[in-house]
Amino acid sequence: MTEELKNKLLYKAKNAYDTASAEEINAFACGYKNFMDSSKTEREAVAFAKKAAEEKGFKPFDRTVTLKAGDKVYYVNRDKSIVLAVIGSEAVENGANIVVAHVDSPRLDLKQRPLYEDGGLAYFKTHYYGGIKKYQWTAMPLALHGTVIKADGEKINISLGDSADEAAFYISDLMPHIAKDQIDKPLGSAISGEGLNIIVGSVPCNEESNPIKLAVLQALYEKYGITEKDFITAELSAVPADNARDIGFDRGMIAAYGHDDRICAYPSMCALFEDDMPKRTCICIFADKEEIGSYGVTGMSSAAYKNFLLDICVLSGANFSAFCENSVCLSADVGGAYDACYGDAYDAKNSAYVNKGVVVTKYTGARGKSGSSDASAELVAKITGVLDREGVAWQTGEYGKVDQGGAGTVATEIALLNIDVIDVGVPILSMHSPYELASKADIFAMYKAAKAFFTL
Ligand code: MN
Ligand code: MN
Repeated sequence: MTEELKNKLLYKAKNAYDTASAEEINAFACGYKNFMDSSKTEREAVAFAKKAAEEKGFKPFDRTVTLKAGDKVYYVNRDKSIVLAVIGSEAVENGANIVVAHVDSPRLDLKQRPLYEDGGLAYFKTHYYGGIKKYQWTAMPLALHGTVIKADGEKINISLGDSADEAAFYISDLMPHIAKDQIDKPLGSAISGEGLNIIVGSVPCNEESNPIKLAVLQALYEKYGITEKDFITAELSAVPADNARDIGFDRGMIAAYGHDDRICAYPSMCALFEDDMPKRTCICIFADKEEIGSYGVTGMSSAAYKNFLLDICVLSGANFSAFCENSVCLSADVGGAYDACYGDAYDAKNSAYVNKGVVVTKYTGARGKSGSSDASAELVAKITGVLDREGVAWQTGEYGKVDQGGAGTVATEIALLNIDVIDVGVPILSMHSPYELASKADIFAMYKAAKAFFTL
């Protein structure tokens, strides 16, 4: 057989390093790390995106102003999700190219009555948010992020513990010396949900009962003016305190909290900002609540997004049904990268690999594709076609072995609108851990993929 014929017959995924220079990849990674360090919650990611959009000339969406080609608008949904849109030169009725990512990540939310004292320490009780391996969240520094609405309506944003000169927080674990009972338990139950209690204070005040709890409350009152009752209306989360770090002698990867899924949001946003007058209308939706099922008014199943798209149509004189039918969407969410240390969980022939670019995932779901929107052959061809045309490194990949588990994405919510949708995202390692790992070359590939998609 000739080399030529052999190359024609066999498929080989590109390496992301063959599609971009190290300078481009590293420069983009710097911007990404900056975004990550200031976006540890969905609220913070939305605030970052809003500011970046304003700097690029985006205006707040106004339902009373007619839209025309080249208009750039943003719509913030309750400070927890954001939609950015650039109206294209073609008729809006021809459909939009939409990228949806989510900006919430697994974390430990405080319960509504979190503060208590026990055994000489003050603690916050938590209820974890999203799918975590609980044992990973102990014995490490945690930061506290969130919003408190005081009785007088004043809103206080709290962000404490990320920088080395600030106090951080901590969940203890049992010392191995006396952990026989714990160590004999399965990994999933060795640390319980009710066991994820955060140490928040140790210094007593001059009181007989609950002297440490009262001292913590006094400190909170002096710093923020909040009382124990204010926790009831608060939304506070403990997140890993560490910032994004380069990994490896070659610094080719980034470890960070919450790659899933800000690692797709940031590159898509950067790609959207590049073209002031795209042919087709281009939209980024950064949704909340994906990690707990996309429910709630800020989750992708909320009518907020459908209504926004409908408003875009009304304000540009387009038919909404035609718009949806002609639109195409990337459900931009992370994929699980093949992990050689846990190779047994994967089908190595159908896994995504680090440095091979974005993962195009035809279907997600679990146990027989259940819960998947399963993109059509036509759509897979259309998307991989544009990625090839624009020289983007891409690969295919399933989560793991059949019947080993699986995952869902917002693709199903998009499909409800009769919009063609396919999952495309960055492959990552240690997904849903406090410190996830991704390749800089793949992050840059995501940016190139979004850019290519917007030219579709
Ligand atoms: Mn995700
Ligand atoms: Mn996730």
